[in-house]
Amino acid sequence: MLKAVIFDLDNTLVNFWEFKQESSKEAAKAMVGAGLEMSAGACERLIFKIYETHGIDYQLTFTELLKPFKFEKDKFEKIRNAGITAYLRKKGEILRPYGGMEATLHELKKDYSLAVLTDAPREQAHSRLAFTGLQNYFSQVGTFHDTNIYKPGVEPFLHICKKLEVKAEECLMVGDNLSRDIRGAKLVGMHTCFAKYGQVFGDDGTKAEFEIDKPVQLLEVVKKI
Ligand SMILES: [Mg+2]
Repeated sequence: MLKAVIFDLDNTLVNFWEFKQESSKEAAKAMVGAGLEMSAGACERLIFKIYETHGIDYQLTFTELLKPFKFEKDKFEKIRNAGITAYLRKKGEILRPYGGMEATLHELKKDYSLAVLTDAPREQAHSRLAFTGLQNYFSQVGTFHDTNIYKPGVEPFLHICKKLEVKAEECLMVGDNLSRDIRGAKLVGMHTCFAKYGQVFGDDGTKAEFEIDKPVQLLEVVKKI
């Protein structure tokens, strides 16, 4: 019997990648506008290089980017804050739950425990849930910091089951990343649903039991389990 629905966060519940790309582009433009001497395109590439090295949730990206320029303090702050402000302004415009997600969660919550299982750091995960107004739908939020192991390692999946007080086979895992969300969930025996609408990375050929093109289709999926 299905008791819990567990969601990946980024690109499953919220349009993380779209926000990250658009916000980084705006930040690059703003830093160049504030006196950073390079093209906006080159600056944007540098930002993503830093994400690759330090992780997509790295909080000191613009500081790191400006370090090699050895600017005097005022110029450094001017450029860095231009970047941060433009980034956050764009985030406010763009980052949101996928269309139909809130109504779907509202319905699912009537019959199932709902949880989040993300590889994001604890602080950023909770901040993104609050930012997008989703935090009250979930009784448990599992983040990287609960186990210090990334999906598809089995530990995060087993840990969230423990928090929810359910068995793996009583859970449906919903995620956009086949090689992490779906692979890991299958390893522990969860039901799986591929959130095709959010897929950016991670197609390793793993097949999910179900797949959806939009969040509302989850209401049909749970009926089939
Ligand atoms: Mg994801």
